[in-house]
Amino acid sequence: MYPGRRLWRACGCRIRGSAVGLRCILVKVMLNMTSFSGLNLMAPLMKAVESEGYSTPTPIQLKSIPHLLGGRDLMGLAQTGTGKTAAFTLPMLQRLTESGNPSQRNSPRALILAPTRELAGQIADSIRTYGKHLKLRSGVAYGGVSIRSQINMLSSGLDVLVATPGRLLDLMNQGHCRLGRIEIFVLDEADRMLDMGFIPDVRRIAAKLPAIRQTALFSATMPETVLKLAAGLLTDPIRVEAAPAATTVEKVDQRVFFVPKDKKSDLLSKLLTNSDIKRVLIFTRTKHGANKVALHLDREGVSSGAIHGNKSQAARQKVLGEFKSGRLRALVATDIAARGIDVNGITHVINFDLPNEPESYVHRIGRTARAGASGVAISFCDSEERAFLRDIEKTIRRSVLVDENHPYHGMAPAPANDRGGMPGRSRFKSNRPPRRSGGRSGQSSHGGHSGHGGQARRPAA
Ligand code: AMP
Repeated sequence: MYPGRRLWRACGCRIRGSAVGLRCILVKVMLNMTSFSGLNLMAPLMKAVESEGYSTPTPIQLKSIPHLLGGRDLMGLAQTGTGKTAAFTLPMLQRLTESGNPSQRNSPRALILAPTRELAGQIADSIRTYGKHLKLRSGVAYGGVSIRSQINMLSSGLDVLVATPGRLLDLMNQGHCRLGRIEIFVLDEADRMLDMGFIPDVRRIAAKLPAIRQTALFSATMPETVLKLAAGLLTDPIRVEAAPAATTVEKVDQRVFFVPKDKKSDLLSKLLTNSDIKRVLIFTRTKHGANKVALHLDREGVSSGAIHGNKSQAARQKVLGEFKSGRLRALVATDIAARGIDVNGITHVINFDLPNEPESYVHRIGRTARAGASGVAISFCDSEERAFLRDIEKTIRRSVLVDENHPYHGMAPAPANDRGGMPGRSRFKSNRPPRRSGGRSGQSSHGGHSGHGGQARRPAA
């Protein structure tokens, strides 16, 4: 049978020869190409994906899964929120099932390295979810909790181990984990590994992996060090990109409030009187700052919790669980602690302090635009943070709306080299009078600010 006819039959189309029939084939082929059924995933994985309610693969899944199933190495430029965990987990589970090697004591068959405990825990949860109809055994190992149960888990024989680098090295050095049987290695959030100083640990771990293996590396950005690391780890990798940072952040309604440092808490209280802010993630630069903001919110009657590196793992998990369940309306976090937090339905992100790294800004605001959703990101900017704002605008290749509709605007004097100051210094400088954005006038009360409308101006690009 000639191929066209076979395709015709496969499509189940009976109106041969007609334009309707041809259109029917094309639509079916295209739907198949962009749906999970076109990805050749095995039935137990399809069942799990369906029960998660995923109707279509995300772009990173569409681009990665076929190559990973085919055994290629892969370098993925993707940040959290793009569905990258399923992109590497689904093919990994399929290949481990198909290769069928038995699990052995202290010798996992696949290793996923993640920079933080939160991210490692979430990846392990995803593996349990996607692998629930398979017979593979998985486990997670990170620091800050007893090593004993992790030793027992490894000795019982695992197929997939998710780990943070430090704890994995401890387990390896004590003889509880050997990497000689690793078939698949995934390095997640490589750029964050770099920020956290983990690259030497990653190299030490990678040196113990067998030469014949499949490797995937994911990173939201590709600094030189990460590229060098990738060159040493990957063999002839396929390169995939979810979406450049600038297009991902376009889904987020971003605005900035110029406010003196000592008025930030008051401004936060005012904003939180708006009931549209249902689930809010608030970022501070320091651990001490996170505690202070959470205490302030408690005093104001806003249910909140803080997570940062000084909190025990148990305390972090408890707060995160309460935020996920909706018992807490606000979660205050530092960048590192918030890394990898996977909470759906975050309506707003508030940058109580602006980050000095533009990439952190992109990571932060991406928390409110998970898996195709949109959201609002509000940044407080005091006079010392204006240079950070300029760097951010350069990175995201757009200006952030200035919201003047609050009592503290104009209280912080603009430095000479800032917006409206020395000509030519800012790419987004404007000397035009403020113009209103959105449909509403500047009449909305400060407490009623919804992150939409109100009086705001977009500096000319
Ligand atoms: P990740 O980027 O892996 O952290 O995933 C972000 C969120 O997207 C998680 O809550 C996933 O459950 C969700 N997700 C992953 N793949 C899909 C999909 N194909 N459709 C809808 N949601 C998805």
